[in-house]
Amino acid sequence: MANIIDGKRISAEIKDEVKVKADELKAKGIEPCLAVVLVGEDPASQVYVRNKKKACEYCGIKSLSYELSADTTEDELLSLIDKLNADKSCNGILVQLPLPKHIDENKILLRILPEKDVDGFHPYNVGLLSIGKADLKACTPAGCIELIKRSGVDITGKRCVVVGRSNIVGKPVGMLLLAENGTVTTCHSKTKNIAEVCRQAEILVAAVGIPRFIKGDMVSQGATVIDVGVNRLENGKLCGDVDFEEVSPKAAYITPVPGGVGPMTIAMLMKNCITACRKQNNL
Ligand code: NAP
Repeated sequence: MANIIDGKRISAEIKDEVKVKADELKAKGIEPCLAVVLVGEDPASQVYVRNKKKACEYCGIKSLSYELSADTTEDELLSLIDKLNADKSCNGILVQLPLPKHIDENKILLRILPEKDVDGFHPYNVGLLSIGKADLKACTPAGCIELIKRSGVDITGKRCVVVGRSNIVGKPVGMLLLAENGTVTTCHSKTKNIAEVCRQAEILVAAVGIPRFIKGDMVSQGATVIDVGVNRLENGKLCGDVDFEEVSPKAAYITPVPGGVGPMTIAMLMKNCITACRKQNNL
């Protein structure tokens, strides 16, 4: 039976490390600060934003909250971003996605100064990630790497397979694994013989968005399996992209859903806020 990678414990560990760094900054008279912008009343987004604010409070990071109505125009949102970009006391800007349809998400994300892009979505930061030089890394992918490393699994030289090639998860996970000296293969919906490719993996990351997509016969004995998937089943329960029942007897390490990758995203966001704040203060 696999060792369960406890994302709750590891994310708490990271938030405690962030708290120490935030205190160090405050002792120098610098207060790290994150602006969280929510447009509209999507209930899931409201929960995410609330949890981000709670994490800021826990870590000792000041949070500025902007809750805008669903009919906010693109220009109004752009001017808020300009204002936050110019505000030296604000180190990070997070615009909760998805945005209402009349607002061009790309245009908004491009407007955030790369040094304040704590989500790590700006093409400038994505470019730095691809050359192995990013300070602000996309939070969920960076969280996957922390889970692997803090479980004592060395990525160097390992055959890594990532299922999924989205810009926010699959691709950055692949680049980060490569930066850790893994030998990386990326699979997607057009990949042939996907089960065979997955069976080669010593480290398998699933970011597909299909409940229980990774079955027992797609995983080799002793693999480390990271399940990024968050799928809501008809019965209301959450379920990952990995068939936990089938895969856990074969894997050496596996993340559960919930309680695996999920809690890591906010912890890595907090870490990015401190990184951004330190850089902006030439530390
Ligand atoms: P996405 O944008 O829908 O991308 C899914 C990827 O899976 C695509 O690259 C797609 O391939 C690939 N795919 C789809 N069907 C496939 C198949 N039959 N065989 C092989 N590959 C297939 O999803 P995402 O945003 O990356 O998210 C993936 C999962 O992670 C979702 O469950 C999401 O909820 C979860 N997630 C969790 C967190 C978190 O825990 N904090 C954060 C973000 C996302 P093509 O490119 O060929 O279409």
